Amino acid sequence: MQLMWLSGPTGQVKSVSITARNILVAAGALAMALLLLGFALNWVGLRVAVEYNPDLARSLGGVTTEAEQLRMESVYRQNLRQIQSSMDQTVQDVKKLEALKNRFMNLATPAGLKDKAPALQNAKGGPFVLPNLTQNWMGQIFKQPLQTELQQTAEHVHSVNQLLALQQQDWQQHLTWLEALPIALPIQGEFKLTSGFGVRNDPFTGSLAMHEGIDFAAEIGTPVVAPAQGQVVRSEWDATYGNVIEIRHAENFITRYAHLSKRLVTVNAMVQSGALIGNVGNTGRSTGPHLHYEIFQNGRALNPLTVLPATTR
Ligand SMILES: [Zn+2]
Repeated sequence: MQLMWLSGPTGQVKSVSITARNILVAAGALAMALLLLGFALNWVGLRVAVEYNPDLARSLGGVTTEAEQLRMESVYRQNLRQIQSSMDQTVQDVKKLEALKNRFMNLATPAGLKDKAPALQNAKGGPFVLPNLTQNWMGQIFKQPLQTELQQTAEHVHSVNQLLALQQQDWQQHLTWLEALPIALPIQGEFKLTSGFGVRNDPFTGSLAMHEGIDFAAEIGTPVVAPAQGQVVRSEWDATYGNVIEIRHAENFITRYAHLSKRLVTVNAMVQSGALIGNVGNTGRSTGPHLHYEIFQNGRALNPLTVLPATTR
């Protein structure tokens, strides 16, 4: 985006390039809006001076005749239109970002949790709505006193700024919520899913039994990691699970890691997402090296594959 304006009454053209097309476009737009506000305030000063103290304005601005003043105003109007169309573009960019964000969040949010995602607290009536800049301004730009136009420009800059800040807050809130959920893989390195969630033939007795988790077959020693931040609520030896760890996360999630060769965390420890908590083993009631992984929410066992986001499935 190329933003141009005239510097002072001498009409020297200055320009600013805003090239970031990614997520940082929001930050760029924010800076641009502040720049425009500065320009606008500067102009208000000159305009007020022209109306209330023409002599001072002449000496400050070099305005000598009414014709020159009209010409200057016309130049300002042209630049104002450029600013307004830049802002229209910014609004479009923000809307595209909003759509991208929604797609990303939809992909990353586990099934069954989509309605629990945090919503904008002060959002009124659903999606991101911005004033229609073009209709409000462009049609009227040559019919209103400069000061009114300027006032409107400043107000719109302000409202775009507010909406950008709101967007940023929304992203932050949503990402923080997502990061606290156990939606990442609990294992690092080579693995093979060998047994899914549900009823299966028990590998020891051969009779039908519920398998309340999934099995990642991997070499002994393969790193087992926390899929999200949380607190260790169990780390002990169990006759069935062997070396077993449990971690409590946000939204009443608990994850369980069984048959470990090593436990590297103790009860009450706080762990960050991706933290090494143990190693794959073959302890307890296990027929070969693997990580048995279970996810509970509110005490109910979930199929971990429905909690892992679509992108890792
Ligand atoms: Zn298992």
